[in-house]
Amino acid sequence: MTMIDRASREFRSYVELYERASLLELGSLADQARWRLHPENVVTYIIDRNINYTNVCVADCKFCAFYRRPKHGEGYVLSFEQIGRKIDELKALGGVQILIQGGHNPYIPFAWYLDLMRYIKRHHPIHIHGFSPSEVDFFAGRFGMSIEEVIRELMAAGLDSIPGGGGEILVQEVRDRVAKKKAGADRWLEVMETAHRLGLKTSVTMMYGLGETLADRVEHLFRVREVQAPPGASPPSFAGRCSPSTPSSSTSPRPTRSPTCARRRSRASCSTTCRTSRPPG
Ligand code: SF4
Repeated sequence: MTMIDRASREFRSYVELYERASLLELGSLADQARWRLHPENVVTYIIDRNINYTNVCVADCKFCAFYRRPKHGEGYVLSFEQIGRKIDELKALGGVQILIQGGHNPYIPFAWYLDLMRYIKRHHPIHIHGFSPSEVDFFAGRFGMSIEEVIRELMAAGLDSIPGGGGEILVQEVRDRVAKKKAGADRWLEVMETAHRLGLKTSVTMMYGLGETLADRVEHLFRVREVQAPPGASPPSFAGRCSPSTPSSSTSPRPTRSPTCARRRSRASCSTTCRTSRPPG
């Protein structure tokens, strides 16, 4: 992995822009970049649905109010039929894609994931955007496989693309503080590069508000840009604020306050960060 040179003129210029630019200026610059990259007068969107197949997880991320430790009474794994019903509900509303991801559940065998992909494609066909890089990394470690083997098998069973969940801030010092047991920054990006090489498209996220600096956020964007650069990768990106009182999934029954993201930010600050969440360049 290439090291990001924080002393470079380009890096410093983006940090400086982030610090001083108004929301409107950033919005205008983002719009100019968008027209430069996509001059065609077309903007598209899709309707999709997040499905969290399990909340059982051993990663213990400090900001997460969604997960339950193994053997916790509120832990769950959705059945194939429950997942199928959620897809049918989505389709009834015009949805065309599911984003399916979940906790790092040590009790689920790899065959379950493959059977799930096949079940969906057979009985509820839809585009499957599934299994974040940290899950793929967890599968590789748990089942003694390489990243490439994991992705190849999931693709053969029906996986269509990979979501960018678990990216948080792709700076190792930040991850060490809040998500130490999850795939590290280099490993997360390695999963995405492998997916691109195997012909999959991916998306990417940035979850801010973890006590990171503005330079950390810019480094995240620079690192994402490197992985986006090869033709065919073209992932969309979005930023989400770590919310102190909001669970990371709509299925969580237990909102908790995280000490790592307890500092509330203004709406303008959040908008500013979202405007900068397209990797520069
Ligand atoms: S954020 Fe994801 S990986 Fe981390 S504890 Fe929550 S469910 Fe597990």
